[in-house]
Amino acid sequence: MQVSTAIQVKSAAKWQKTLIKQDEIERYLENGEDFIDEGAISSAIEKNRGASPERIRDIIQKAYDIELMDLADVAALVGVTDPAIKQEVFAAAREIKTKVYDNRVVTFAPLYCGSKCVNQCKYCGFRRNNNAMQRRVLSMEEIEEETRILAGKIGHKRLVVVYGEHPETDVEYIVESMRHIYSVKEKARKGFGEIRRVNINAAPLPIEDLCKLKDAGIGTFQIFQETYHKPTYRAVHPAGTLKGNYRWRLYALHRAMDAGIDDVAVGALFGLFDWRFEVMGLVEHARSLEKQYGIGPHTVSVPRLEPAVGTDFSWVRHWVHDDDFRYLIAVIRLAIPYSGLIVTNREKPEMLRSVIKMCTQRDADSRVGIGAYTDAYSATDQKTYKQQFILGDTRSLDEIVRELAEMGHIISFCTAGYRCGRTGKKIMDLLTSGKEGSFCKLNAVLTFQEWLEDFGSPETRKIGDSIIEKEMKEIRARVPTDYSQVLFKHFEDARERIIQGERDLYF
Ligand code: SAM
Ligand code: SF4
Repeated sequence: MQVSTAIQVKSAAKWQKTLIKQDEIERYLENGEDFIDEGAISSAIEKNRGASPERIRDIIQKAYDIELMDLADVAALVGVTDPAIKQEVFAAAREIKTKVYDNRVVTFAPLYCGSKCVNQCKYCGFRRNNNAMQRRVLSMEEIEEETRILAGKIGHKRLVVVYGEHPETDVEYIVESMRHIYSVKEKARKGFGEIRRVNINAAPLPIEDLCKLKDAGIGTFQIFQETYHKPTYRAVHPAGTLKGNYRWRLYALHRAMDAGIDDVAVGALFGLFDWRFEVMGLVEHARSLEKQYGIGPHTVSVPRLEPAVGTDFSWVRHWVHDDDFRYLIAVIRLAIPYSGLIVTNREKPEMLRSVIKMCTQRDADSRVGIGAYTDAYSATDQKTYKQQFILGDTRSLDEIVRELAEMGHIISFCTAGYRCGRTGKKIMDLLTSGKEGSFCKLNAVLTFQEWLEDFGSPETRKIGDSIIEKEMKEIRARVPTDYSQVLFKHFEDARERIIQGERDLYF
């Protein structure tokens, strides 16, 4: 039965009132203030502009200690204009990425479950009053169908599942959708495809609801602040909407920590305000999490504003130029050196190629529409559900894996971390001590081998096998210093068992 729009609006309004809990904002404030001090950020940018090359080199050296950077030092980095000094920052960013994460790149795909939304974000195709967008929320059967394609046909092991903010996609729906995604097991060439890590990108929730996500087996909870600059935040998120509450969003990940979700992910939507300010905001966000929980963000995302259907962008004053975008990634790499850094298919292949050596994750073969994987793989040509925004890289996972392998990366499909309790403080300690790189190398090899067996095309298989051989040699050379004989033997056995058809083996 069709529910009238008036009833829908009324029930959405009632639902909204139950969500925001003022005490779950105020408990995190310090002396009534939040951790974003706009005056301090702006004056740091001003004061540290034009820092000497010697100072920048000192800052770069300190970054190798893998600790969160001082605000003044971040300000000095964002103020660099000399192209030669920038090249030194880029070189350090690539080295630090390798020091902490080795040559691994993790791939994932987004799964959009609903385009209904009560908010009015000026930049988003899903905003409530955008009539150019058809609205839909996937049923559980449809979510399973999307998952069968993602896990069984494409070969993904890790998803970020995305929801609009709406009573039809409330926490109960999110929990149910996670259960259905984890339940799918699809026959693949030699083994089977399944999603082993469900990360969530959803609106801020109260602690009680976040506990339900924890119980349902969430990987990472990801929320982008969009902009840390309050006047801009107000301008793009109208007052009176849920998203209009800056502080409810600012402390969403603190609440997640309190609910026991210790892998949390921050991000800013680059283009809304000056990128220098946003980079400083991200670092301050990491600092506040570290200060209150001893753990920084698991990942940082750097989405850049993209055109969206039915959406006017003539008001945008801070589009981020390609060169600045590359540079801000390098600065974040140095400033929050222990965090994973995610780039997405919003960017074009050339851009992704030029930054991937500073990053740890990218999506592949993605679609950002509701039911869009099923649409793409169906025989009929009824591609009805519009994308949230326009994608820059639409190549297949196989092509992307091949390209990454040709660039010398090992593509890790590892999801062992949260399943063996290596999250939060444990993973942070491994990362900052440089131990995580060698530890995860083994799982990267095993999961890459598994993927090649089940999904790799003959060309990708060829280059993938040569990368694995190279990795095996490196690992062997580190026995017994970094890996014991016994461990290495187990590892070799596990690889062989995977080639024979066993699945989901990890250390
Ligand atoms: N509704 C939830 C929220 O807003 O947090 C989660 C879903 S929302 C679709 C996920 C992210 O999409 C937002 O945090 C925003 O950064 C990004 N986004 C929205 N419009 C965009 C655009 N035009 N270009 C690029 N990214 C966009
Ligand atoms: Fe809704 Fe999120 Fe889009 Fe804003 S960004 S309109 S909250 S889906």
